[in-house]
Amino acid sequence: SGQFLFSLLLLTAVIGTFLYLLKTIRKQNQLAILRKAFVNNMTHELKTPVATVMAAVEAIQRFVAKDDKVKMHTYLELSKAELEHLNHMIERVLELDVDETHRIRLNQREFDLISLINGSLETAKISSKKDVQIMFEPNVSTMSLLADEAHIKNVLVNLLDNAIKYSADTVQIRIDVQETNRFVTIAVADKGKGIAQQHHKNIFDMFFRVSDGNIYDVKGFGLGLAYVKHVIEQHGGQIVVDSELGKGSVFTIRIPKRNTDD
Ligand code: ADP
Repeated sequence: SGQFLFSLLLLTAVIGTFLYLLKTIRKQNQLAILRKAFVNNMTHELKTPVATVMAAVEAIQRFVAKDDKVKMHTYLELSKAELEHLNHMIERVLELDVDETHRIRLNQREFDLISLINGSLETAKISSKKDVQIMFEPNVSTMSLLADEAHIKNVLVNLLDNAIKYSADTVQIRIDVQETNRFVTIAVADKGKGIAQQHHKNIFDMFFRVSDGNIYDVKGFGLGLAYVKHVIEQHGGQIVVDSELGKGSVFTIRIPKRNTDD
């Protein structure tokens, strides 16, 4: 029976190692896919500053001909600001790195969440052809947060893009922020198609998409929310959904103002 016990232990160890390896490989694949989703998102965002700088440079050429120094200065400043923003984003794509435990490495800095939300809603609005109305009336003018600004912006743009994608041609979104001593809470609410209760547990899974005849004929890969959840949890936060079919959805994220992940 000693031999039997030994074989059993050996078998358990072999199966255990095998499962561990499988899990590691799965996690690595998942991360590669999330990384891709992040880069895709960035690519989409890189187009706006490039277009702005292009237009500014053309304007500068005209003002050089007219020798209008004031206008030249204005457009040079605009180009400089856009290029700085672009540079920051490119750095973030290149830096997007994962650590030994396959988590996205965060680059945390203190920033103002209110301006980040304002920037995100502009980004989301610009990239849509629909009539998008976003109500965001915070009762504070600034809200400091220590987090990875580029990833948090991507999270917001993803939620806003979804709110727009899964709404009819007139889109009504409301963003609410709240802060306590330790946490900030951001809620993104839309009046779109909503999500049936039975799907709530799956929507954060990779590649999951609700297949119900696509009433607004929406394209996607089912990666956005998986990325969003990964980033929020990496910050020590949570994301929850509250949604009813035909009524709309509310995605609420809660993140610590300063988390211990560093
Ligand atoms: P994608 O939008 O590329 O399909 P996501 O991971 O962002 O992927 O979303 C997963 C699924 O959850 C979507 O396919 C959609 O069915 C549902 N969903 C996400 N956000 C919303 C929303 N605001 N309103 C309605 N359904 C949504």
